[in-house]
Amino acid sequence: MTTIEKAAATSLKAPVLDASALRSRHDALRRPYDLADNDLLERQRRLESNARSYPRRLPIALARAKGVYVEDVEGRVFIDCLAAAGTLVLGHNHPVPREAMERAFRDELPLQTLDLATPVKDRFIQDLFSLLPSELAARARIQFCGPTGTDAVEAALKLVKTATGRSTMLSFHGAYHGMSHGSLSLMGSLGPKRDVGPMMADVQFLPYPYAFRCPFGIGGEPGETAGLRYIQTLLSDPESGVRAAAGMILEAVQGEGGVVPASDRWLRELRRITRAATVPLILDEVQTGLGRTGRFFAFQHADIVPDVLVLSKAIGGGLPMSVVIYDEALDRWKPGAHAGTFRGNQLAMAAGSATIQFIRSERLDLHAEAMGQRLRGHLVELQRRHAFIGDVRGRGLMLGMEIVDPAAAPAPATSLGPGPRPTHGRLAAALQHACIRRGLIVELGGRDGSTMRFLPPLIITEHEIDHVAEILAAAFAAVPLDQVAGVRRADH
Ligand code: PMP
Repeated sequence: MTTIEKAAATSLKAPVLDASALRSRHDALRRPYDLADNDLLERQRRLESNARSYPRRLPIALARAKGVYVEDVEGRVFIDCLAAAGTLVLGHNHPVPREAMERAFRDELPLQTLDLATPVKDRFIQDLFSLLPSELAARARIQFCGPTGTDAVEAALKLVKTATGRSTMLSFHGAYHGMSHGSLSLMGSLGPKRDVGPMMADVQFLPYPYAFRCPFGIGGEPGETAGLRYIQTLLSDPESGVRAAAGMILEAVQGEGGVVPASDRWLRELRRITRAATVPLILDEVQTGLGRTGRFFAFQHADIVPDVLVLSKAIGGGLPMSVVIYDEALDRWKPGAHAGTFRGNQLAMAAGSATIQFIRSERLDLHAEAMGQRLRGHLVELQRRHAFIGDVRGRGLMLGMEIVDPAAAPAPATSLGPGPRPTHGRLAAALQHACIRRGLIVELGGRDGSTMRFLPPLIITEHEIDHVAEILAAAFAAVPLDQVAGVRRADH
């Protein structure tokens, strides 16, 4: 047995994990972790696909987890601000979904039920619908999909195409909706599309209100207005070249695209424009859903109601599940039009129900809002100290920090002020690495991988937020800017 395997075996046999014990063992601030390779990681590199992604930037092998903490096979403790890409809203091994799963086993539930009726599913639908605005809940239908967010996006595409008899889809620059061929066709990022063309035909990309790098070089509300005007023209001008659309899909806060929030005003205007053009509006809340942005759903900030809502990640209480909820007027597809074996995961529905009830009763949406404000305050404070932090943005506990090259010339000024400096993905990667060495797991996203993303569990406490900020401060101060190629010592 190697040292790592021994460590893994012992830690798995250890008594039930206690978050406060993990907290007290989090000593990486005093002595940054050495992230040297080990057998397990070496085997992973040899045996797993070249398409693997997270392990390339997070060279750690996880053994156990509790709350916001994870422990790797070598006994090192990390604060997890990735939480399975925002899935674990109640953190790791929370007693509420866990007890629901244990109960499901005790009651000998059928684990998989295709799309047959069960009391657990009936409960889950009622719990989920109870969170919807009444206008949508009163007219809602639900389709259970295969376990991933991607599959629910595929279902939504087929739903609106069938209902409208049209084929054109409208998506946005910077969008992320999944990795299957259809959903990939809606993606902004060109990397994953490059080698698998041709894509689904008839997708038109529209400008997202990315204020920091306004696609029109205007910035602020005037930039947003220009984008809206452009979209309005595209949908209404008989000479726009774009045929009537089957649907428009968007994230109210773009996640993988670099944590870019749309303003309430922009969302409201888009709702008005799509309604006038009879284009179904699909809100992809796979990442934002269930309280992350400070509301149960991000569209509620703008007080709008979508025609279609795509959900996954958090709704299964940590287990895989995805659904599409939509207005009954769109329910025109034929029996069996979207199927799949794993649509009846009873453990996920039981855990999902318990999670929804807990989020509701504990008002974790409001807690996310408050903790998000606190974390944002820390990030803004860091921005004052470091010229490489170009922008701090996001909503609730979905926050991002765009890393720029502090020594490069900024883009031309707009009427609203100086333009942004270019992104610096390599510096972002160096900062991320410095964070991991100090026991903080954060992910990167956006253009050039330059946005540091924060998606902690919603149960994170004030104390834990402050600890995250302490780690960030130590990590950022430690990165030798002059050694990251392309950055001169304009900072510190
Ligand atoms: N939509 C959005 C907004 C997402 O963030 C993601 C995943 N990050 C997906 C869809 C795809 O979900 P999955 O990875 O479960 O297929």
